[in-house]
Amino acid sequence: MGTRDYDVVVVGGGPAGCMTAKYAAKAGASTLIIEEDAAIGVPVQCAGLISKRALEESELRNRNFFIKCEIKGAVVHSPSYELTLESPDQRAFAIRRNVFDRELANEAQKAGADIVLKSKVRTVRKREEGTKLTITTATANGTQEIKAKVVIGADGVKSTVAQSAMLNVARSSLSCVQIEGEYETGDFAEIFVGKTIAPGFFAWTIPLGTDNRARIGLCIDKRFSPQSNPLLFLKRNLAEHPVIAKKYKGTVFNRTAGRIPIPVNAGLRGRKYKTVKIDNETGILLVGDAAAQIKPITGGGAYYGMRCGKIAGEIAAQACLTGDMKVLNDYEIRWRNEIGKEIAFGLKVHRLRCVMSDEDFDTIVHTLSQSEILQRIKKKGDMDYPSIVFHGLLTNPSLIKVMARNSLKYLYTK
Ligand SMILES: Cc1cc2nc3c(=O)[nH]c(=O)nc-3n(C[C@H](O)[C@H](O)[C@H](O)COP(=O)(O)OP(=O)(O)OC[C@H]3O[C@@H](n4cnc5c(N)ncnc54)[C@H](O)[C@@H]3O)c2cc1C
Repeated sequence: MGTRDYDVVVVGGGPAGCMTAKYAAKAGASTLIIEEDAAIGVPVQCAGLISKRALEESELRNRNFFIKCEIKGAVVHSPSYELTLESPDQRAFAIRRNVFDRELANEAQKAGADIVLKSKVRTVRKREEGTKLTITTATANGTQEIKAKVVIGADGVKSTVAQSAMLNVARSSLSCVQIEGEYETGDFAEIFVGKTIAPGFFAWTIPLGTDNRARIGLCIDKRFSPQSNPLLFLKRNLAEHPVIAKKYKGTVFNRTAGRIPIPVNAGLRGRKYKTVKIDNETGILLVGDAAAQIKPITGGGAYYGMRCGKIAGEIAAQACLTGDMKVLNDYEIRWRNEIGKEIAFGLKVHRLRCVMSDEDFDTIVHTLSQSEILQRIKKKGDMDYPSIVFHGLLTNPSLIKVMARNSLKYLYTK
């Protein structure tokens, strides 16, 4: 096969990559998605919980294909207390991520993007004499080369494109494991916090609507964990946790493991930790997990990835069609303006959570269950923009005390 030539090449066919490609193609750029796996959406490395807003952001119509069930709210368990957060409106859904990703890829194709599977991008380089970037891929037929004016790294937490371009936007990553198994479920997700349950993050169960099945998983932040293998914590929770062990029926239908990037706090302009690299007539952008565009409080990344993908696709096409690569800088500005503050706030909460004691978690859950605060959470709680409700909570003296103590503890631990 001869060398293929595109305006925009998107590396990675996850939600961020598919949305980026759809918007680049829609704006008139010749666009290709390169995916290393044999099929889009497989393997799944996700709990599949997304908000109603994320569903709308996806622009997908055939929702029955991928929605498993509606989630009515969440029950948060600290070691000694529990708090039920009922959602007044449909706000979250458990989805089949494999089908969701496939549908997004179909939409990208309908907009005009090409997709090549089973091709692993090894390097992205600019040859001295070239006016385009050369993407080298490994395929079953050997090494291949593809040319592009703009390459977009949507290749997840271990992004090869980010490494090739020497763009580093993640400080470290959370280690996650999950099984799907038989579990006594209701309509609520469950969140479990505590130092011995999931150090540096939380454990979850997501009901799947039928057959009493749930996704049961957790992430840990290894920097604050006595053990680096998250599976040890999952096994212990399944066997010993007073709530999880009682409801879990012992079956494992499938299991998954993965990582979630922890972004560097780059401020609104990302002066140092950039997701854009311009070299005269070519450019490289990062999007989704590759750009660490995730919510540090919940670890969710599908919504931000799709949202930033739209910006990346549109701007990449504009740069290619006008020949002015400087417009790529607008991507950094636009996405940081939209979600930069939320990420920065989430990082602060994440740091505190990493050093909190079980007593602190108890104080928080107990304080939140006091009715006036609970009403505020129910009214304003938003899984995509949690800072709105968190800011409001910082008027409570018990919560202020926990935050202040753990801010000092974090600085000392660091
Ligand atoms: C256990 C777990 C649970 C999670 N639960 C949720 C949740 O409930 N809700 C939520 O919103 N988010 C969740 N997340 C996060 C979410 O899965 C990611 O944020 C999201 O998938 C990011 O999308 P993306 O398109 O940026 O990257 P990905 O979905 O990771 O897609 C990247 C794609 O790039 C491909 N690729 C990688 N390298 C190359 C290469 N060199 N060449 C070619 N292709 C390549 C990969 O095969 C992959 O298909 C979870 C993550 C984990 C680990």
